[in-house]
Amino acid sequence: MARVVFDEERCKGCELCIAFCPRKLLVMAEHFNAKGYHPATILDQEECNACTYCARMCPEVAIEVYK
Ligand code: SF4
Ligand code: SF4
Repeated sequence: MARVVFDEERCKGCELCIAFCPRKLLVMAEHFNAKGYHPATILDQEECNACTYCARMCPEVAIEVYK
């Protein structure tokens, strides 16, 4: 199963990963990181096909995708 891991402290809340996920699996978390941004998170890991679009779009290199 694919797994998407976020380094929440690197996230700047730009929402690019959310816009580019073809399966619309990503959302902004309710909590804040240490920089004061809502970090991106994944709703349903089981629906992820490991396309890696989210990781490749992230300007902060905050996402890693494992297959
Ligand atoms: S790897 Fe692809 S399907 Fe999975 S969360 Fe990222 S953009 Fe969405
Ligand atoms: S693209 Fe990166 S910095 Fe932007 S919201 Fe997603 S994880 Fe955070």
